[in-house]
Amino acid sequence: MKSRLLFFLFAISAAGAFAQEVKFSWPMERGFPELRGLTSTFGESRGDHFHNGVDISSLGEPVHPVAPGKILFARGIEDDPFSPLIGPGNFVIVDHGKGWWSGYYHLGKITKTRKGAVEPNSTLGVTGNTGHSVGAHLHFFLARDYGRTLVNPLVVLPGIVDKNPPQIGSLTIVTPQGKTTLPAGSVSRVRLSQPFPVYAQIQDPGLEKNTNRGIYELRWKLNDAPEQIRNFQKIVVVGDEWTLEGKGFEDVFGMGQYHLGALSFQNGRNTVRITAVDQAGNQSTETFEIDVQRMY
Ligand SMILES: [Zn+2]
Repeated sequence: MKSRLLFFLFAISAAGAFAQEVKFSWPMERGFPELRGLTSTFGESRGDHFHNGVDISSLGEPVHPVAPGKILFARGIEDDPFSPLIGPGNFVIVDHGKGWWSGYYHLGKITKTRKGAVEPNSTLGVTGNTGHSVGAHLHFFLARDYGRTLVNPLVVLPGIVDKNPPQIGSLTIVTPQGKTTLPAGSVSRVRLSQPFPVYAQIQDPGLEKNTNRGIYELRWKLNDAPEQIRNFQKIVVVGDEWTLEGKGFEDVFGMGQYHLGALSFQNGRNTVRITAVDQAGNQSTETFEIDVQRMY
């Protein structure tokens, strides 16, 4: 037991050391550190699954490996012209050694580098709109443990500008009778027959309209109960399910919002305090006052 724990700690520190010893860069040359056009972030809700990378809107820009490595796999329409492109479209996966991989999806064209080493100044292809993609963009992911852990690129890659704190909108309680949406900063009244799931609407805007940076830590607290914390740093495959801190997708998201679990409100006045933190450390806190008539 002890040796397993030690091994586990060693594995974590080895991964951390690798990320420090290998200098990762972003896959495109444009405007860093602003990184304009980051439309989707890591670990956000995609309806029924976690988004496993970041999306950068782009068309026809060269895409480079984020670190030295070799091509692990590449597939382009030229390889199989009679078969429609699958979800990733034209894509390339690069092996950086020690179990670290990076992936580049929806490329317009891939450069024919099937074998051999690639460097950050190599070109893997250009951005496009192939496969399951609405609007030209690069879907980029970073994995370790040979693809079994997907890590948040914003944690490992060079830091990008993030001036906007997260925006915490409303809280929604979902009962069999329907949804009750509670705005922040006002006192709401609800009648509840049992604890029902509660969802928070939160976003972290990027520098331009329709862009995102993403929440990296979410904390919430009901009355005097211990604060609950969730981090969005990595997702890990367990069996055939992707999990975040041991939780499946539906324990983390619902209705496209952040799932806070079934909160056990007391009869009378309740306070829910939510704090959201982004990668740059910008943070927001909102308090919801809820008058609950407990029917149980
Ligand atoms: Zn994507």
